[in-house]
Amino acid sequence: MTRVDAVDESAVRARVAQARTLVVKIGSSSLTQSSGHLDVDRLEAFVSAVARTRLLDARIVVVSSGAIAAGFGPLGFQSRPEDLATQQATASVGQGLLMARYETSFARFGVRVGQILLTAQDTIRAVQYRNAQRTLLRMLDLGVVPIVNENDALASNEIRFGDNDHLSALVANIVRADALVLLTDVDGLYSAPPSTPGAHRIPFVPDVIAVMSAVSVAGSSSGVGTGGMVTKLEAARVAAVSGIPTVLASAREAGPALMGDPVGTAFAPVKPRGSSRRLWIGFAAEPRGVLVADAGAAKAVQGGRASLLSAGVIGVEGEFSAGDPVWIDDEQGRHLAKGLSGFDSEEVPRMLGRTTTQLKRLFGAEFAHPLVHRDNLVLVLRPPSTDVAETPEGSAARHG
Ligand code: GLU
Repeated sequence: MTRVDAVDESAVRARVAQARTLVVKIGSSSLTQSSGHLDVDRLEAFVSAVARTRLLDARIVVVSSGAIAAGFGPLGFQSRPEDLATQQATASVGQGLLMARYETSFARFGVRVGQILLTAQDTIRAVQYRNAQRTLLRMLDLGVVPIVNENDALASNEIRFGDNDHLSALVANIVRADALVLLTDVDGLYSAPPSTPGAHRIPFVPDVIAVMSAVSVAGSSSGVGTGGMVTKLEAARVAAVSGIPTVLASAREAGPALMGDPVGTAFAPVKPRGSSRRLWIGFAAEPRGVLVADAGAAKAVQGGRASLLSAGVIGVEGEFSAGDPVWIDDEQGRHLAKGLSGFDSEEVPRMLGRTTTQLKRLFGAEFAHPLVHRDNLVLVLRPPSTDVAETPEGSAARHG
């Protein structure tokens, strides 16, 4: 795996300070009161920090939680509802309250906002992904600040992100952000749960993947949000391997964090930034089937430069069309890579084991192509305790 040159904290902070496109995520506990109402003062403080520090020189996307946490008070509930249907209904109320307040707050700075509610499907399916990307980029072109949240009112348990940390890292990929800022109710990553004697804030993490296995982290104690430190580290990891630096800081320090001051914890990117399409293949695309590589092809794919040729494929599973994402597995069923298939699944069986020359002779020139071209292929890495594809650049297709 190719890593970017070692960077120090000041270089990472400078990248945040100079970012042209920034994704800023703020959590429920920083926007709401425990009674389940919006905390208008804190929302306004956040908006004014964003507006005063960066709105003149950067394109800002806000990923805001708080729909459920701002909705349960007005509905008369004592605490955040537990069941999905009530959560969804609550979110529909809270989201409106949240947007109304964002609109007035940003208007004080002469800035328009627009609401974008995403579902997991919008990041998984290629057409929806491009659609979300096009809208967000156009909003930024128009000087509008997109206020993004998950479409909580319609997301079902099976397919929801659940926490906006992960969503914000995907949004950073979608808009090809230069930096991600995660604002929460703690002032950074700690070496141990903050109540432990000797626990200290870690100002800089050069390699978030290494830290994820080394640091003991505690969940959020606020009772209104859903993400804890684990989901923040996971978001920082997704950003880091996408070439995007992350700062995790307290919402109270939003201004300094956005200005590149040494607050919170800065996470260095561990890779050069990849193309948005490769990031999508790596992180979000949902495979529709499997191509099983023989030992030789598996080795070639893992080696980092090869396309997957039908000569090295011994099986196909699932139904997919050309252009759909598929897993590339080895004979033991391990996922080696994700890629976009060059062919429909029904065309694949007769191609299996045949060389490009044979394919051309038997079926015509349009069959003389790899099953998955190396430009459309992203290797799977296995960071501690996760199982996701994550290497948009520096992988099998890097040498294009
Ligand atoms: N989307 C949820 C909401 O707005 C919150 C997700 C999170 O807490 O990260 O209420």
